[in-house]
Amino acid sequence: MEKYTKYDAIVIGAGHAGCEAGLALARTGKNTLMLTLNLDSIAFLACNPSIGGTAKGHLVCEIDALGGEMGINTDASLTQIRMLNKGKGPAVYSLRAQVDKISYHTRMKRVLENQENLSVKQAEVSEILTKNGKICGLSTAQGEKFLCDTIVMATGVYLKSQIIIGQYKSDSGPNGFSPANLLTKNLIELGFKVLRFKTGTPARVDGKTVNFDIMEKQIGEEDIQSFSFLTETPLKNTAACYLTHTTPETKKIIINNIHKAPLYCGLIKGIGPRYCPSIEDKIMRFADKEVHQVFLEPESKYTNEFYVQGVSTSLPVDVQNELYPSVTGLENVKIMRNAYAIEYDCIDSMQLKPTLEYKNVKGLFTAGQINGTSGYEEAAAQGLIAGINAGLYLDGKEGLVLKRNSSYIGVLIDDLVTKGTNEPYRMMTSRAEYRLWLRQDNADVRLTEIGREVGLVNDKRYEKFQNKLKDIAKCKQLLETKVKIDQKMIDFLNKKNESIPKQTIRIYDLIKKNKVNLHDVNEEYDFFREFDRKILETVNIDIRYEGYLKQQERDIKEMLKQEASKIPEGIEYGALKGLSLEAREKLEKIKPQTIAQASRISGISPADISILIIYLKMKAR
Ligand SMILES: Cc1cc2nc3c(=O)[nH]c(=O)nc-3n(C[C@H](O)[C@H](O)[C@H](O)COP(=O)(O)OP(=O)(O)OC[C@H]3O[C@@H](n4cnc5c(N)ncnc54)[C@H](O)[C@@H]3O)c2cc1C
Repeated sequence: MEKYTKYDAIVIGAGHAGCEAGLALARTGKNTLMLTLNLDSIAFLACNPSIGGTAKGHLVCEIDALGGEMGINTDASLTQIRMLNKGKGPAVYSLRAQVDKISYHTRMKRVLENQENLSVKQAEVSEILTKNGKICGLSTAQGEKFLCDTIVMATGVYLKSQIIIGQYKSDSGPNGFSPANLLTKNLIELGFKVLRFKTGTPARVDGKTVNFDIMEKQIGEEDIQSFSFLTETPLKNTAACYLTHTTPETKKIIINNIHKAPLYCGLIKGIGPRYCPSIEDKIMRFADKEVHQVFLEPESKYTNEFYVQGVSTSLPVDVQNELYPSVTGLENVKIMRNAYAIEYDCIDSMQLKPTLEYKNVKGLFTAGQINGTSGYEEAAAQGLIAGINAGLYLDGKEGLVLKRNSSYIGVLIDDLVTKGTNEPYRMMTSRAEYRLWLRQDNADVRLTEIGREVGLVNDKRYEKFQNKLKDIAKCKQLLETKVKIDQKMIDFLNKKNESIPKQTIRIYDLIKKNKVNLHDVNEEYDFFREFDRKILETVNIDIRYEGYLKQQERDIKEMLKQEASKIPEGIEYGALKGLSLEAREKLEKIKPQTIAQASRISGISPADISILIIYLKMKAR
């Protein structure tokens, strides 16, 4: 009788989602196998060599606060870091790092290989096996079978993936990696609704052939916050990016060849990301714009390849050979890898529970691009939660559902399972209702206790977190200090163009003034010298935006009341005549777990919600 190896859990995929899921399972003591089509694609940055950016930076800090790996891996492999949106409010301050692609991959591969309870193997999963509606194992195309009790599927952009360059269409994953052509059939048999999405990437060009002298150099910022709350060594900027522009010539080339663009001649069927448009899309959509911004981003210190951000395309190679040299500074450029579009299969995320478990198969969780999102950070966030929940499933415990007031991760997953997405979903700060509370600097205040409860936050991180809370409390206490209005204070306030109070002034009231913040006071007075910049930043924002935060707290309380009213399983919505037909259909399909979730489903009216509440009250009675 054939003997099959048994694991507690198996993770399909070693992309950004798979890595977080596998580490979360292994670090909570589950004997885990991680399978990937190619070990060289572990944590592969298929598109831009950067992590973070608006709202994506928040996701990375939240992953770190919960005990995930992406923040640490980014700090360890970054070549440049900047805080975006500093001219706007603190809710949208976003860290963005340029990373060394090769170092990012190599370090993550080593972390996986050295992780206790985790085995990593190269193989193509062809079939997921179930028994009585539950996971029991999987088979590979290479003829192996593994047994397990739970699976996290994080197959990314590889399911039946095809790359497209003009008329050229080939079965391939990104960067020439092989596609996964067998699993989709099995997923359809398991009842998954499969969608076809697409995304695209620009060419990689040889830096030796780029004229950087006529471009605007962009360097990183010193003394800046890290992604990981554990990072202690100051971050070093070692590489620059370069800003340039397309030209009217670029526009002409595209317009003259638009009929060859797969997107415009119907060769591409998959739905693309609205917020990462190709250059041909930008030229056609913003016809009034003559030129578009382009950034040259270094891929790694181990190669001369540069990523041409802003010129993603799937136009034929001969057009690309005209197009890239028309960009200022690229006149003599050599293309090392052509730009391409990639189409791939993904699933309808409304078939998932808020724990990311598939509704039709117990123990099967999905995460990442397969759920219809786009982005390393979005994928890693889902991978972490799916990994945590697969572990809790094995322990027979209730799954972790992060609410919309706790995190961008909570907003992301709730949007996916409640509203679904008919195009690659990218996280944005505008998607969050409570964004002044969901800042990067307080991600640990919001999430590290939860990470501790699920067993992912180790003692070192927990102690550091506790010390931070103590420091914040102590710093806030010190704000009660009264400062006398002496010449020093008068000079300080005059310098800040602020009015001079008659009596002594509490530092608390001082930083409530428009033009004074806690960093200014810290430069002038030595009350706060024992605290590091991050503590001062959090306290400064908490106090200066106290009114708004209090209002958000009230809104959150109201929302949590609705979240608390659970909807029992097994309700026959079809029988609730008072509900609109659309409401009955959508409630039946999504099976919301709370009144709050039901009220967020598009097409469900407040009237439908009142009928549901009355029905539940009567049922309870
Ligand atoms: C060309 C391109 C352009 C992109 N452009 C952007 C962009 O502009 N902006 C943006 O935010 N994001 C972009 N992305 C998306 C970004 O790369 C993904 O969001 C991210 O990599 C998704 O992570 P993931 O973990 O879900 O999947 P991936 O990183 O794709 O990893 C999937 C993993 O699953 C494995 N796998 C798949 N099927 C099987 C199987 N059957 N058996 C075993 N292993 C399997 C693969 O080997 C791989 O390890 C782009 C991606 C590509 C390819």
